Amino acid sequence: MATSTEATPYTIVIGLEVHVQLLTETKLFCGCRNRFGDPPNTNVCPICLGMPGVLPVMNQKAFQLALRAAVALNCQIARFTKWDRKNYYYPDLPKNYQISQYDLPFSHDGYLEIPTADGGTKRVGIIRVHLEEDAGKLLHAERGGKSQVDLNRAGTPLLEIVTKPDMNSPAEARTFLEELRLLLRYLEVSDCNMQEGSLRCDANINLHVQHNGQTVATPIVEVKNMNSFKAVEAAMAYEARRQYEEWLRTGAKLGEVPKETRGWDENRAVTVSQRRKEEASDYRYFPEPDLVPVVVSEQMLQEVRSQIGEFPAQRRLRLAAEYGIPEYDARVIVELGKAFADYFEQFARGLENPKNASNWMLQDVQRTLNAKGWTIEQFPVRPEKLADLVSRIERREINTHAAREVFAEMIESGRDPGAIIAERGLTMVSDEQQLKAIVDQVLDENPKVLEDFKKKKGKKRKQVAGFVRGLIMRQTKGRADAALVERLVNEALVARTGVPLE
Ligand code: ZN
Ligand code: MN
Repeated sequence: MATSTEATPYTIVIGLEVHVQLLTETKLFCGCRNRFGDPPNTNVCPICLGMPGVLPVMNQKAFQLALRAAVALNCQIARFTKWDRKNYYYPDLPKNYQISQYDLPFSHDGYLEIPTADGGTKRVGIIRVHLEEDAGKLLHAERGGKSQVDLNRAGTPLLEIVTKPDMNSPAEARTFLEELRLLLRYLEVSDCNMQEGSLRCDANINLHVQHNGQTVATPIVEVKNMNSFKAVEAAMAYEARRQYEEWLRTGAKLGEVPKETRGWDENRAVTVSQRRKEEASDYRYFPEPDLVPVVVSEQMLQEVRSQIGEFPAQRRLRLAAEYGIPEYDARVIVELGKAFADYFEQFARGLENPKNASNWMLQDVQRTLNAKGWTIEQFPVRPEKLADLVSRIERREINTHAAREVFAEMIESGRDPGAIIAERGLTMVSDEQQLKAIVDQVLDENPKVLEDFKKKKGKKRKQVAGFVRGLIMRQTKGRADAALVERLVNEALVARTGVPLE
């Protein structure tokens, strides 16, 4: 099954390996702070510096967060799990080995459901999720050739999530990452900030080419160094094209080419060959002798299950059903984060029609957040106050135009909408006699519009009516009931000119 719209003689096969940094206070095997952005080498101790004679102790909180993620990813949880040393030499790894999990990871065989373009869902299998420690970070000078090492990150907890090769297009790989990030943020397992390195992703990709009635697999290439979801999508698209061209050039010989690691070059938008891919045997894995294995009890699992709230996918469905808002709105609200969706629900409960809440959230509130660079937590107007304002539109006490003016002041001063409306005299003018008098007065003072209305046809004639409505709004300082004004203006124009509206 080719997923591209043009017929391709191959299927793209992608599997991802994602590392996410856990949101713990402290590191995985010592008490050092787990925090991004501190001065280099300030969150270190003899354990994470790999000094001789020290002993690691597992961080229970990290294990719990890891369990939470694995349960949410529908994984089988191992009742007995142990730690292993993955040996390699690199300047950011003071012990010369990483404490990881090899043959007995704490969880395996799960899945994540992702939305598909046609509105359905697709299951992406999870081979395993394991816990391991992170390495430090090398800082390479732009000039002068000197490199420095910051070990603040050494020993911080990482979750490694390995998927099955179940994704069949670059867009699907991106959707998987977006859905995974949304889930892990909802679970408060990780902030998944790719810029700060708290979510990192490598991809394995190859093609299944249709050739002489047979399916031939091209060698798997591991792509690294993708620093955004956009980069993952672009790298996968590039790599699929490159592998197909390679296949056309070398044909059947491809099967004998060794596995390769390639790096994504963002500036040139190409992948570049780095090295032959390591095999597990290159790392000389062996059981970590300094840590006891972990036995997961039924009680531990119960506790973790009770901590898991509603998943984003469930919340999308519930918001649409419970509040009767369009599925599109529900999806966007959930994607903007848990706090945003919480705000929406509190706001919507205070209104007659919840659709008004989603409209305000996705337009006025969202626009303000973007303009000010705020998160919803920083937004100064509480949901009950915003409901107070918007419910006044629903009760026809003010019109939308006036409500926007009140909204702007609520953001500045934090005052109640009722007080602002009273002080500024923004109550809607909806008295028919009063408005009719204003319409008559405006038309008496502007005889030319009646001539225009008579002369023009169709859309142009309607524009004249719009112009008159604008004059009425100006007279009433924007406070008039817009629907009523429209009716009264139309009636007066037709009555005075004797021609129909269009
Ligand atoms: Zn430490
Ligand atoms: Mn790893």
